[in-house]
Amino acid sequence: MATELTELKQHTRQTFVKPAVKEIAITTQIIDAIFNFYPKECYCLAGYLDTSDQFWKVNYHFDLLVTKIDEFLEIKDLDQKYYNAAKAIENVLFQNTPIPLTGYMLDSKVGQTKDLSTNEQIIARHKLIKQSKIDFKSVITKSKVVTAAKESNPPKAEKMWWLAVAPLAAPGTSLHGTGYALDIAGNNLETTRISKALGASLVFNEASHVHVEFKNWKDLL
Ligand SMILES: [Zn+2]
Repeated sequence: MATELTELKQHTRQTFVKPAVKEIAITTQIIDAIFNFYPKECYCLAGYLDTSDQFWKVNYHFDLLVTKIDEFLEIKDLDQKYYNAAKAIENVLFQNTPIPLTGYMLDSKVGQTKDLSTNEQIIARHKLIKQSKIDFKSVITKSKVVTAAKESNPPKAEKMWWLAVAPLAAPGTSLHGTGYALDIAGNNLETTRISKALGASLVFNEASHVHVEFKNWKDLL
């Protein structure tokens, strides 16, 4: 355990961990060891994800990306070239849609809405989403819907835009399957600083949140 950090004790376990977060024993021990060190504004929004959860997450991101593209298309006095670019991205996404089309984004628990697609279809969908996120990120930054300079710690109003274009692991390959990866949101700069001081093995800023891994979680105990 790092010594330069002090326990802030601004959180209870319940205020730090969002209800949808799934845990296995490793995740539980990590959260118990770290939650007192983070300020009130930082919270954990994802933990353990098994393989089927990771397939569900592809559809969560499909749902979110289509929702944000639709929101973008509604913007008044939008430059036609940005409108066309966003519409083209949406058309690509519609080549491979989950059944049902929506619901995943509003699920209160991971995996709630069941997709009838095969795993092969979802793996192919992940590839479309991956490219679409890159393309849509370019559209929302160039059209200044988000402020590119604030990517490392975006204001609250921009966070869902950044989440829509955040990287997404191929189903079955996410480090969240290990139980030692957490997504922590709220204040990315503080999350990064504190997680590193706690000895995280990987700290990756994804704009909407920070992906943190404690591969050496036994050192926390
Ligand atoms: Zn993550």
